Amino acid sequence: MRKLENTYNKKGFTYNLIARTDNKAIYNQYDGYGHLIGHECFIVQTVNETEAFGVVFPAREKYPTDNDFGVTAWSVGRDIKRAMEKYNAIGDFKCKGCSCELTSDYSLRTKGYCYLCDTNITLEELLSDNSI
Ligand SMILES: [Zn+2]
Repeated sequence: MRKLENTYNKKGFTYNLIARTDNKAIYNQYDGYGHLIGHECFIVQTVNETEAFGVVFPAREKYPTDNDFGVTAWSVGRDIKRAMEKYNAIGDFKCKGCSCELTSDYSLRTKGYCYLCDTNITLEELLSDNSI
């Protein structure tokens, strides 16, 4: 498994790793002039080995894409204290059913289970438009 780099560049920004576990990471974000813009923290997701155009890309951890923000990744501003609070909140929840790791507010009815594995939530409720 190829790991995330300690420093990477994306869209003209430079990101430096501040802290991480197997499950989560937090980077600071600098613009091209060396100004601190903010921090980004995210749940580390992985992609399996893929092959394209005859080239094999090894299994790897991936950086969040635009679609991940608000779901598994968060822009948490320049304040390092606030940023670390968000970082520390990630991964506190690990579902006892499917082992997915999410932020703590995913337990709806039964503590320790995500809404998909929660036996106290019926399929009808899941498929209903009403909130659980
Ligand atoms: Zn689950």
